[in-house]
Amino acid sequence: MSETLHIIGGGMAGSEAAWQAANMGVKVVIHEMRPKIETFAHRTGHLAEMVCSNSFRSDDDEQNAVGLLHWEMRAANGLIMAMADKHRLPAGGALAVDRDPFAESVTAALTDHTNISVDYDEITELPSDGHWIIATGPLTSSALGAAIQKETGADALAFFDAIAPIIYAESINMDVAWLQSRYDKGDTEEERKAYLNCPMTEAQYEAFIDALLAADKTEFHDGETAGYFDGCLPIEVMAERGRETLRFGPMKPVGLTNAHKPDDKPYAVVQLRRDNALGTLYNIVGFQTKMKYGAQTDVLRMIPGLEDASFARLGGIHRNTFINSPTLLDNQMRLKSKPHIRFAGQITGVEGYVESAAMGLLAGRLAAAEILGQDMDTAPQNSAMGALVHHITGGAEAKTFQPMNVNFGLFHPVEGLKGGRRGRKDRYKAYTDRAKQDWQGWLAAQS
Ligand SMILES: Cc1cc2nc3c(=O)[nH]c(=O)nc-3n(C[C@H](O)[C@H](O)[C@H](O)COP(=O)(O)OP(=O)(O)OC[C@H]3O[C@@H](n4cnc5c(N)ncnc54)[C@H](O)[C@@H]3O)c2cc1C
Repeated sequence: MSETLHIIGGGMAGSEAAWQAANMGVKVVIHEMRPKIETFAHRTGHLAEMVCSNSFRSDDDEQNAVGLLHWEMRAANGLIMAMADKHRLPAGGALAVDRDPFAESVTAALTDHTNISVDYDEITELPSDGHWIIATGPLTSSALGAAIQKETGADALAFFDAIAPIIYAESINMDVAWLQSRYDKGDTEEERKAYLNCPMTEAQYEAFIDALLAADKTEFHDGETAGYFDGCLPIEVMAERGRETLRFGPMKPVGLTNAHKPDDKPYAVVQLRRDNALGTLYNIVGFQTKMKYGAQTDVLRMIPGLEDASFARLGGIHRNTFINSPTLLDNQMRLKSKPHIRFAGQITGVEGYVESAAMGLLAGRLAAAEILGQDMDTAPQNSAMGALVHHITGGAEAKTFQPMNVNFGLFHPVEGLKGGRRGRKDRYKAYTDRAKQDWQGWLAAQS
């Protein structure tokens, strides 16, 4: 075996990718710029450093999608999960990790592996040949970011995520909300009903603005810039600029007729747009926000129709480099214009330590299989790994693509099960049972 897999970035994704490929018998070089070149968030020169919280979130593999992803990664002999388990801290149902010993153990496991070497240097150009995975994460160095942008186009690489909250469709009260595009625009019935509208009276709008102004907000980290502001102001900043700004911006009530009360003219309207092909998730249009998570749920549940909203993810604005994967990557995670380069981790538009490591696991295996001349399908769609990779490489709306956590909204429904809150427990159990079976089948096909 003479071909080497090069991985740029030894974070969550790059470390897991290296481990998986090396265990399949492929020689791997990890190119990591730290500690020579630092980022504003990393503190050490270790591989797989956790930059902020020390939580891998829920470890419940029957009722929680991220817990299911833990399960799938453990079943695939994942290094990140093995070391997280080894350095687990007490945290109820969540998997909290002792961050320094965790990163040291991942680093030791990789540097001790006979098939792996680490080159501590920054890569600044896209490689012209060979087998590569780019896993440089949300804080990709600016030189490499510029090279990626040159290849993919300015619109296909973002340096910030300005995430509007995403809500499970089933939790929206359709006795209050209705489906309609502004001015009924669109050639098909589907297009004319592409948006979901939540109406507000004047009193509701005023109360909403008061709550927005009073809500707790997060601040930028050092090294993050506020240059994004021109393009996508957080709603609370719009409200600070004037109480009417939102009503003349994302909440303008024009071109819409309340389907439940056609004679009532709403004072303001909050619009939601479908966020995935399955139609299980909706994002709130123009509602990027830096409100703290607790404040966000309180304030957003003031919107009529969203009183019982369940959030697939909350909004945020962060320094985050990510590519428009739905247009740029094939389902093997290869860059369509340069298929010798794969992408993995947060730069593909997933969000979180676990999701990033999961995408590394998959990219590492797919790349190694290609080098070894083996056919390997991408992850099965009904597994958590598959739901995530299908979302970023095709299922997500490319025009509004923003980073995504794993969640059950990405899963195909299981036939014959009750919708709504009451049926949720059975439904999630059915998703996770089906996922485990399909994932084990996929792993078995490779052994
Ligand atoms: C400030 C901040 C806070 C966050 N907080 C959380 C949190 O609390 N919980 C959570 O789940 N997720 C959090 N995230 C997201 C988190 O970064 C990712 O989930 C995860 O670390 C991403 O994994 P990754 O492997 O894609 O990138 P990283 O883990 O960041 O790894 C990328 C690696 O690539 C290296 N690199 C970059 N450019 C180059 C280059 N040109 N050449 C060589 N090496 C390079 C970097 O040094 C880094 O080691 C946070 C992100 C940021 C920026």
